[in-house]
Amino acid sequence: DPELTPFLTPVRERIDLLVTKNENLTVQKKNLEIQLRLADAQRRQSQIMLQGISDAVIVTDAFDEMLMANPAAAAVFGFDLAASSKKPIAQLLTGKGGERLAADISEMRKNHARTNRRTAEYQFDFDGKPRLFSVSLSCVIDNADQFAGVVTMLHDRTREDDISQMKTDFVSHVSHELRTPLSSIKAYAELLVDGEATDDKTRAEFYHIIQAEADRLSRLIDNILNISRIESGMTRVHKKAVALNGIMKQVMEVAMPSARDKQITLVDNVSPVFFSVEADRDMIYQAALNLLSNAIKYTPAGGTVRVDLTADEETNEVTLLVADTGVGIPPEAMKHLFEKFYRVEQNKSMAKGSGLGLNLTRQIIEGVHKGRMIVRSEVGKGSTFGFALPIAA
Ligand code: ADP
Repeated sequence: DPELTPFLTPVRERIDLLVTKNENLTVQKKNLEIQLRLADAQRRQSQIMLQGISDAVIVTDAFDEMLMANPAAAAVFGFDLAASSKKPIAQLLTGKGGERLAADISEMRKNHARTNRRTAEYQFDFDGKPRLFSVSLSCVIDNADQFAGVVTMLHDRTREDDISQMKTDFVSHVSHELRTPLSSIKAYAELLVDGEATDDKTRAEFYHIIQAEADRLSRLIDNILNISRIESGMTRVHKKAVALNGIMKQVMEVAMPSARDKQITLVDNVSPVFFSVEADRDMIYQAALNLLSNAIKYTPAGGTVRVDLTADEETNEVTLLVADTGVGIPPEAMKHLFEKFYRVEQNKSMAKGSGLGLNLTRQIIEGVHKGRMIVRSEVGKGSTFGFALPIAA
């Protein structure tokens, strides 16, 4: 109807406008949805990263309420991570000695203009035991210079403290071990200087003692140096295909005199088949000699020490076993055998030693050569020490 046209035109225009507006809004809505999804993904990603941090992390807002935390933090203070969002931090940290930290977080937020980072040590009760944490508090300021939150990171110092304690123990142990042979060298040298040894026989005896103690001292120092070189990765390892049979023959030859002195029968059961392993010859020699000398040391006179070398095609391993008919090792001592300076109390009177040999042997076999140590023992019956190494291709 032409008469209606003047009225309808503006209405149509209006409808067109609304349609366009609606289309625009749909686009905008889509954009917002994308942004929201992006922000959500980013938030999830930061949460995943936060979870991956082994140190405890807590983020608090301008009201000292928890914004985020990771499972490590929840474990230290024993709160439920899922139910703790927006809870006052003082409430979450109460008990376990966290009150001072909560107060410090609050303080940090109030003073953020002046301080934006602080570290301190705190002690919290963890599993009923006090643990020392290094805690760092940082204020986060956003792009508009506004306070965004306080990030608290807690680093458990227990392990490092344990390691540093071990180092101290090691040093004092080493000093003690060095002092024993040194004081006897000193004492006998003094006796000689003072002319206390009046006849040749006594003098010869004193010289021998001095020599033996000096040897012991030098072995001790070698062992300590070898262990620390391997531990620090400073040892140059010369690996190549070597025949274990040859090494074992040599080791047995070297040990023969001390076995003979004690009337110990050394049984050679080394397979004549040529077993080649990818190894550092000197190190394997040292490891095998340690096991054989121990077997002789801890076996009473008249006993038997048997050396077996076999290959297992199935596991692709060469196995060395040194079996003795010695005093054996009590079950409770078994787990300590490879610790530095550990010596079985009951066997100390059998022989002199430093308790370093087995530690070094294990480092050589398991650390350097990726093999494994073998130990079996029965008190009064004897022990079998050995190792297995992969056969070289
Ligand atoms: P040590 O210098 O004292 O021999 P090791 O590290 O070689 O040190 O051995 C640690 C301890 O393990 C020894 O002191 C000894 O008590 C025990 N042990 C090692 N080998 C044997 C064995 N074949 N029979 C009995 N005890 C052994």
